[in-house]
Amino acid sequence: MASTCTICSSPNAKDCARCHSARYCSPECQQTDWPCHRLLCSQYATHKSSSRPSPSHYRAILFSPKEDKPKLIWLECKNEDSDTGGRFEMPQYRKYLGQYQGRSASAEHKMIQKNLLRGRSLANNLEVVCRETFLVDGSLKNQSIIKATQGGLYYDWRGPMLAFKENGKGLGTTTHLDMDMQDYRDIVDYFICYGDETVNDSDQHHNGSGKVKGVKISCQGDQITFGAEKYVSVDVPRSHMVFYSGTPPISELVGFPVRVRKYPPDRLWKDSEEAGVYKNQAATFLHLETDKSSNRWGWVPMPWQNEVGSVLVVRRDGQDVTTQQVEALCEFCQFKMQPLFENGLGAGLVKMTREEVMGYMTPARFREYFAELREKKMDDDAAWITASLPK
Ligand SMILES: [Zn+2]
Ligand SMILES: [Zn+2]
Repeated sequence: MASTCTICSSPNAKDCARCHSARYCSPECQQTDWPCHRLLCSQYATHKSSSRPSPSHYRAILFSPKEDKPKLIWLECKNEDSDTGGRFEMPQYRKYLGQYQGRSASAEHKMIQKNLLRGRSLANNLEVVCRETFLVDGSLKNQSIIKATQGGLYYDWRGPMLAFKENGKGLGTTTHLDMDMQDYRDIVDYFICYGDETVNDSDQHHNGSGKVKGVKISCQGDQITFGAEKYVSVDVPRSHMVFYSGTPPISELVGFPVRVRKYPPDRLWKDSEEAGVYKNQAATFLHLETDKSSNRWGWVPMPWQNEVGSVLVVRRDGQDVTTQQVEALCEFCQFKMQPLFENGLGAGLVKMTREEVMGYMTPARFREYFAELREKKMDDDAAWITASLPK
């Protein structure tokens, strides 16, 4: 349990180097968490247990409507006698909920025992306390939740939301625990799923859990520094940001639409003096502009010319993709189409019109190219013998 991935629950995950509280099995899982995780990572790293005001204070997370990120707080949980004679800890949350009509706002409790988005049961209850009337009492939209969820919400969360952790599961817990960065992810996923009926226990397919096969195209820096292969098959969580990225136009035209996203540069080569560590020609030419009415036709947009680095490619429809399919698409762009675009721009060996060039970017032409490439590659690389076209 201690080393399972915060995103996909795979074993043998490694700690976030800064907060040591979230864990990831792969760079793809870490990137999936990052837009949310970064809002609290350094706060967590400096939120020392030694600053705990008393043994009955526990680390909790306050999502304030007016802040642009959540905040770690020490929540006091006072020891009280219960009716049945035992003792229990009563969280002192009132002051975080504010007033309503001149009195303390009444509270609503939401108990969370499962992360539906990632299909996992929680080891301890998480609880969210909010104003009972937040939808109708003029409470403001909760900006820190909007930020943490990247706006991917179905529900209209308003007013302050306070999250804390109970010690144990189910009803009848009496004590509390400090929240950690995995609990934070579980809470944010709860905010994301709430009210979304496509996310439920029985249906794993339409929700954010699970992974698909993507392909990493390694830049020079990764190839030289780590000996990485140019095309590497990687497992990509369905909630990865790449699924919000753009589609290169050629991939659309040849009937194999993909999405592409840059990896952050690796710190081992990012400041290298060596020229070309960011170079990734396959990814660059994949982005050739095909809009005939544009004066950028046949050119590569600026963001794909320099500082490209390694990139992640997935299929737009969320199906698996193989390294051979991505390689074929990239080689088609770089070695087949690029010279034809030159012709169309009057800079090539032959004179061609733009219409003639456009005629080469069809599903049929791509199938033809794929078959030729397979013929050429399979002597040296057995994986190509069984390589199949994207369906
Ligand atoms: Zn993972
Ligand atoms: Zn961290």
